[in-house]
Amino acid sequence: MRLAGMLATRSTCSRLQVGAVVASPDMREIFAVGYNGGPVGGFNDCLSEEPGRCGHAHAEDNACNFAPARVPKIMLVTHFPCPACCVRIVNKLGFEKVYYQQVYRDLAGLEILENAGITVAQLEPCIEG
Ligand SMILES: [Zn+2]
Ligand SMILES: [Zn+2]
Repeated sequence: MRLAGMLATRSTCSRLQVGAVVASPDMREIFAVGYNGGPVGGFNDCLSEEPGRCGHAHAEDNACNFAPARVPKIMLVTHFPCPACCVRIVNKLGFEKVYYQQVYRDLAGLEILENAGITVAQLEPCIEG
């Protein structure tokens, strides 16, 4: 979870900085990491200050790009995933658990994850120091 927090600081989004880690269920192996940002080799700054229109791909989405499908895995993310990312997590097949630290906007995606049999748990943010 500390790693997810570190990744979030790499984000150039002015609205929200999110970090995500995809790991094996025993957390011994890290499959993929992500933070919200622009396209590979492309723009870094937000395209718009309007909520939801900044043009940045979400951390969970970026992490899913490099995560193996159909392999048992978990996700650790600094903010609860939006509904679109929840669908992405479900469709990646093999996610067993999603750990998150903070609620962002709402928990609309919770049902999507739970209906797919994915356990969702909130972790206390780790103390920075
Ligand atoms: Zn942004
Ligand atoms: Zn999202």
